[in-house]
Amino acid sequence: MQALILFGPPGSGKGTQAARLVERYGWAHLATGDMFREALSRNDPVAVEAQDLMKAGRLVPDELVGRMVRAKLQQLKNEGRWDGIIFDGYPRNVAQVGHLDAILTECGIALAGVVALEVEDELLVKRLAGRCSCPTCGKTYNIHFDPPRTAGRCDTDGSTLVCRLDDNEQTIRERLRVYREQTRPVIEVYRGRGQLAVVPGSDGPQPVFERLTAIVDPWTGRHDR
Ligand code: ADP
Repeated sequence: MQALILFGPPGSGKGTQAARLVERYGWAHLATGDMFREALSRNDPVAVEAQDLMKAGRLVPDELVGRMVRAKLQQLKNEGRWDGIIFDGYPRNVAQVGHLDAILTECGIALAGVVALEVEDELLVKRLAGRCSCPTCGKTYNIHFDPPRTAGRCDTDGSTLVCRLDDNEQTIRERLRVYREQTRPVIEVYRGRGQLAVVPGSDGPQPVFERLTAIVDPWTGRHDR
C-alpha cells in the first residue's frame, strides 16, 4: 500500500487533480474537508462539533481529524481498497505530520511522496469565490472561468447550483491566512525529508495534471504512458 499527499492552499486544485489521479491509478481519495462535509450532511456529532470552526475557516482539532482518518483507512481496508491512497487536505499542520507518520507506520503504508501545488493568492480568491457545483451530478463551475450556460443552473440536469458556506470572501481570506501560518510549514518538513515536489498550478487542469503525472508515475512504478 502506497500513499501520496496532494498539498496546496485552498483553491489550488487538489480536489480536481485528486479525481484525475484516482482515475489514473485506481487509488482511494481521502479528503478530510469532504469527509467533514459528508459527516455534517448526516448530522454526525463529530462534524457538528467541527461545524463552527469550518464556517470560520479555522482548523478542526487535530485529534478529531486523526480519528476520522483512522476510521476511513479501516473502512478502505475492510473494503479491500488497499492499493494506494491520495491524502488531500491532510496533514494540515506540523503536528498532523507526526500523527500521519504514526498512522502510516501502524497501517503498513509507504509514503511515495508529497506534491505541492503552487498558485498565487489573488487567483486562489477568484477560484474559490467564483466556485459552485451541482448537488445532483457533482459537476463544478466557476462564474469567472467556466460559467454554466444559464446562470445558477447546471448545464447537465438544470439543478440549482450551490456554493460552499466557506467560499465567501471573508472566510476565504481567513482560510488563506490559516494556510500561510499553520499549513505551509508542513512543506518544509517534507522538503527536509527529500519527499517533496513542487508543481506550478496556475494554469488549466490538463497541463497541471501532466506535470503531476510526470512526477507521480515514477513514484508509483508506472512508466507506461
Ligand atoms: P479548503 O478548500 O479550504 O482546502 P477543505 O475542503 O479541505 O478546504 O476543508 C474545509 C474545512 O475543513 C477546513 O477549513 C477546516 O475547517 C476543516 N479541515 C479539513 N481538513 C482538516 C485538517 N486536516 N485539519 C483540520 N481541519 C481540517
